[in-house]
Amino acid sequence: ADSTGPAHCAPDARYPRGADLDVRGLTWRPFGRTEPILRGLDLRVRAGERVLITGPSGSGKSTLLRALAGVLGTTESGELSGLVLVDGDATAGHPAGIDEAAAASSVSVGLLLQDPVDALVAETVGRDTAFGLENLGVDRARMGARIAQTLDAVSFPYGTNHSSSQLSGGEAQRLALAGVLVMGPRLVLLDEPTSMLDPASAAAVREAVWATAAASGATLIVVEHQLAEWLPRITRLVVLGEGGEIVADGEASVTLVARRDALARAGVWVPG
Ligand code: ADP
Ligand code: MG
Repeated sequence: ADSTGPAHCAPDARYPRGADLDVRGLTWRPFGRTEPILRGLDLRVRAGERVLITGPSGSGKSTLLRALAGVLGTTESGELSGLVLVDGDATAGHPAGIDEAAAASSVSVGLLLQDPVDALVAETVGRDTAFGLENLGVDRARMGARIAQTLDAVSFPYGTNHSSSQLSGGEAQRLALAGVLVMGPRLVLLDEPTSMLDPASAAAVREAVWATAAASGATLIVVEHQLAEWLPRITRLVVLGEGGEIVADGEASVTLVARRDALARAGVWVPG
């Protein structure tokens, strides 16, 4: 593993490596819809892989991440079938609610939602960053340095006493990301983590994500449209098509070339 990450990313002996993910026949149809959003997805990701998921708007990328985190079927009503196994354990049984699910599974799974404002529930930056940690029973007072380092790593511009109710979209996005990374999850799921950021902040966030994953060996799954920026550091590319099925899956640079036509048909812009 890369040992150049920030100090707060040092491997935690309790979570020595990333999680394995095994998705089998995952199908999801919300009540009220005739067509499923996710259609029999099979996906196996080995510990430490860094996967980028892309696909057209509405293809089910966000839904897939929520399924991987075990919050579909508990917070949303519909018909869920198939299996999602994180290191062999089903994620489906978590208690309802994103926060409870995060608490129950945070040693294994951390999810950054596409709308980061959904993740901000406390009054101050420090409390919001620590929210997941506190749900795990970690004493926030003892985590001060780690919290500050994580906020710094994602280029968050304010201190821990700043109010978290008046943040811009990009600030909220970075704060929510810090709250995920600070827990040191073994499976990191990020839904368009740089969508609200200017290019410099986006680059800083990518670096923070990479450093964290490299130092901890975490398995990383990122949903993004910006392929060119992420390609240098990802190991694998998965493309969802309009019908909620996987239309391409493989080593990233190979897949981009070999499946160019399939990607174009799926409406995915391929960097030249
Ligand atoms: P993406 O992230 O790829 O843009 P989403 O996963 O957000 O796609 O949504 C996929 C499709 O499912 C969209 O058509 C969306 O409107 C629909 N959808 C998402 N969540 C629900 C839900 N809870 N109930 C009904 N339809 C939903
Ligand atoms: Mg989405």
